Amino acid sequence: MSDESRRADPPERMCPSTPRENATVFLGMITPAGRVAYVTPAVPAQVVLDDQADAADQDKPAGPVEARYRLAGPCVTTSCGFWTGDHCGLGARLSASYQETVTQQETGLPRCAIRRSCRWFAEQGPAACGPCSHVITDAR
Ligand code: SF4
Repeated sequence: MSDESRRADPPERMCPSTPRENATVFLGMITPAGRVAYVTPAVPAQVVLDDQADAADQDKPAGPVEARYRLAGPCVTTSCGFWTGDHCGLGARLSASYQETVTQQETGLPRCAIRRSCRWFAEQGPAACGPCSHVITDAR
């Protein structure tokens, strides 16, 4: 058996900031301070999406779910406006501007549930994880 045939398929890349329509994983919730409190191990996105539907049923509009939770789902590459043709432009931009603006880098990586398959981590490495914890997918 050749090395090539033994090699595991690369994992499907996951987008760590995706809208509800594409969500498969509940990545975390946004704290009042605007940081992401990551949830591990992975919880299906449907859990929070059902919760959101219940709140709407009770006439309690809670705003866009993407303003309260971080959701992850399969990276859609060419169907996304951030796809450059060979990488995620959003992950690259966030990582670069975080490096430029933050003088004291955070030590240690957040305990998120998708690191092995995360698109941003695969392309930017640990530099993606600092800014990731500040991202609100829909900040309306
Ligand atoms: S960028 Fe880092 S912290 Fe954010 S989802 Fe990807 S691996 Fe996890």
